Amino acid sequence: MTKFREDLKDSVIVVLGASSGFGRGAALKLGRAGAKVVLAARRDNLLSEIENDIRAAGGEAVAAHCDISDAKEVNAVARTAVERYGRIDVWINNVGVGALGLFWDIPVEDQARVIDVNFKGLMFGAHAALLQFRKQGHGVLVNTGSIDSEVPLAYQTTYAATKAAVLSMSRSLNEELRLGGENDSIKVATIMPWAVDTPWWSHAANYTGHQPRMAAMDDPEIVVDAIVKACTDPKEEMPVGAKAHSSNISHHVFPDLTERMSATIADREVKKAGSLPPTTGSIYEPMQEGSGVGGGIRRRMKEEDQARRH
Ligand code: NAP
Repeated sequence: MTKFREDLKDSVIVVLGASSGFGRGAALKLGRAGAKVVLAARRDNLLSEIENDIRAAGGEAVAAHCDISDAKEVNAVARTAVERYGRIDVWINNVGVGALGLFWDIPVEDQARVIDVNFKGLMFGAHAALLQFRKQGHGVLVNTGSIDSEVPLAYQTTYAATKAAVLSMSRSLNEELRLGGENDSIKVATIMPWAVDTPWWSHAANYTGHQPRMAAMDDPEIVVDAIVKACTDPKEEMPVGAKAHSSNISHHVFPDLTERMSATIADREVKKAGSLPPTTGSIYEPMQEGSGVGGGIRRRMKEEDQARRH
């Protein structure tokens, strides 16, 4: 019998990476469902906007500025949650930035920054969350990985490696919790989306020479719903949607073929897009652009496809 909360009402939930994309969507849904939400990211103006929206819907939220690559700032988020609400029921480690391009075209410092944010940052978050969970005797850690956690991807080499590291960390943590007899009250889940139309693509550093594209992007709402579900029904691996599920299975059965197919699709897509000068995106400093849940990428891709046909 597990001891995870069955309903979100009055749960204390920390969302790291709450200002746009999945994090924004999940924070709003959780707040409207009655959770007390601690909203963390770098864009304070967006966090205040979400805090106000949750309060206007009758919920409770507090904003906490945080750059996840700094352990002190991550620990301060945990302190804010505990000082304000007395505990942390769920910690959602949702932050992630990308660097698009062939490995040798991406400056090495940008790749190191992706590791600092996507892996070291999530490790800082996991550490802060687990210290609190073990003290209080319960908790759910939700890490946002990717289908790249299972299937490596060309043009996103270092990003995909950080997502594999996130899944590996989550699996080992669940084993350590089992060894300590704590696995019925503390659990680590990994969300594994396919490519999704969010601001992530415009926030990524990009050295491909082209606007970002990917085939058959999913709608962000299915990932937002999976994150919300994981808060009360966490699973170690949570691929989201039909494409992530089939790619995950395919990689277990035919690893080389699946990797080749994914790389070929990424290569074909990237070359179809309009040109873009090299950019570091939001990996070092946040960008005001891309503040919604959706990213408008599918709309642009459709326009590019129509223009190519004429
Ligand atoms: P997004 O809109 O760019 O969301 C990223 C979030 O992380 C934002 O709230 C951003 O806020 C925050 N963030 C970035 N750098 C940060 C830092 N150094 N410190 C603290 N917060 C930081 O894109 P998204 O698609 O929703 O991404 C959410 C997660 O899903 C990421 O882990 C991403 O890798 C993963 N994912 C995305 C896709 C996809 O295709 N979209 C697919 C699979 C997995 P600030 O800029 O305000 O800090």
